[in-house]
Amino acid sequence: MPQKKEVTQMADVLAVSPHLDDAALSCGATLARWAAEGRDVLVYSAFAGLPEPPFPPAAQRFHELWQLHDDPVRARRAEDEEAMRDLGVTESHGPFLDEIYRDAADEADVARELELVIGRLIEAHRPETVLTCSALGLHKDHVLARDATVRAAVSSGTPLLLWEDLPYGVWTRERPPLPDGRSWGPTVVTEVGADAWKTKITAVARYASQYAMLSYRETPIEDQLERHARTLARGSGVAEQVWTVV
Ligand SMILES: [Zn+2]
Repeated sequence: MPQKKEVTQMADVLAVSPHLDDAALSCGATLARWAAEGRDVLVYSAFAGLPEPPFPPAAQRFHELWQLHDDPVRARRAEDEEAMRDLGVTESHGPFLDEIYRDAADEADVARELELVIGRLIEAHRPETVLTCSALGLHKDHVLARDATVRAAVSSGTPLLLWEDLPYGVWTRERPPLPDGRSWGPTVVTEVGADAWKTKITAVARYASQYAMLSYRETPIEDQLERHARTLARGSGVAEQVWTVV
């Protein structure tokens, strides 16, 4: 009888992104650097589920802003595939519906299911490091993704880093407490280098549908990101920051 083929693929890093674009915006240069160093990086975007029409009015307003009408999330997935290729990482798109398409009554189920799915991803890929957002800015989907990832990483004993949600981090320091009595560890600021930064900006530009929304108060998103990255680096290049969990 033939041996059952091993189908799980190892990944050195598992990054859990709430939405299609958060990983690239928040820590794209760090991911590009790791990929360039030969690390296998898998980016799982949790809230990338394909919604069915009719869409709620709030979602229709976003579609208007994004200039996407027929199959908006499929179009956003295609943008993400290009961005992830730029960064040199592998993407995976989760089935969870973005908050704008979701029934508020389903939140507890989503939280439970998300933790199970991330736990399974950790089991299948055995990453050395798990990375997710900090939920700076308090977006509901960011809090759900962060809490589920923290719980799954802690229960599997996998080292965990939380990225600074961008562009939220440009204007807010507000972040909800971590789940299960965990606390914020030291901040790690890393100068990422000009090449990785350039790669990040190329990747961010792939999310064409999000550009109007991200270019806050007439400031293009790449300028917001660069100004922030230069401030973090305190005069020597560009940096991104993450937090540890203790
Ligand atoms: Zn997001």
